[in-house]
Amino acid sequence: MKVLVLPVGPLKANCYIVFQEEEGDCVVIDPGGDWELLLHNLKEHRLTPEAILLTHGHFDHIGAVDDLKKHTGAKLVIHSEDAGLLQDPERNLSRPFGIGDLRVKATPDRLVKDGDMLEIAGLRFRALHAPGHTLGGVFYAGDGVLFSGDTLMWGTAGRTDMPGGNLQLLLKSLSRLSDLDDSVLVYPGHGPQSTLARERSSNPYLQAAGGPEKS
Ligand SMILES: [Zn+2]
Ligand SMILES: [Zn+2]
Repeated sequence: MKVLVLPVGPLKANCYIVFQEEEGDCVVIDPGGDWELLLHNLKEHRLTPEAILLTHGHFDHIGAVDDLKKHTGAKLVIHSEDAGLLQDPERNLSRPFGIGDLRVKATPDRLVKDGDMLEIAGLRFRALHAPGHTLGGVFYAGDGVLFSGDTLMWGTAGRTDMPGGNLQLLLKSLSRLSDLDDSVLVYPGHGPQSTLARERSSNPYLQAAGGPEKS
């Protein structure tokens, strides 16, 4: 699996292009903006996006969705709890952040659910519903990798003080990562990549989360 990282848009959110081989299909995770840059990279590696996976619906992760979908026909995938944010400048935070009202015109092709296995572009991802930063946050766990959105980042976690945010839910979502291997590479929504081992040893949110609740 190869992963290209492009920090895009006004908040430099990480957009990921994930693929097996050049000149093939790929998955784009969180196309947050800078459509021209994204297109340039897709062309350079001769990649065709089969799907757009969204970790959540905030404006800084969705700004290039319409351009990408219009030009490539890629299928749009998001959790139902965040689908409403796409057309809502208040809830996707574009209005409160003062970057102009963002309304995505494209409608989702698939509403992803907890536990779904996604087989796209020769890659496999397991979707884990991860509310806390937003209600419809999703982790996409692949072979040795985790795309964690704004739920888990290098040494920290996403804000929970905005609409849909909830610290208790976020900690519960983080606790669900306990069955993943230490060696898993974490690709967050902002900032540098990490490993689960590193986060387990130094991330106060992951430490506070502990393991899953036993019943
Ligand atoms: Zn966010
Ligand atoms: Zn973000």
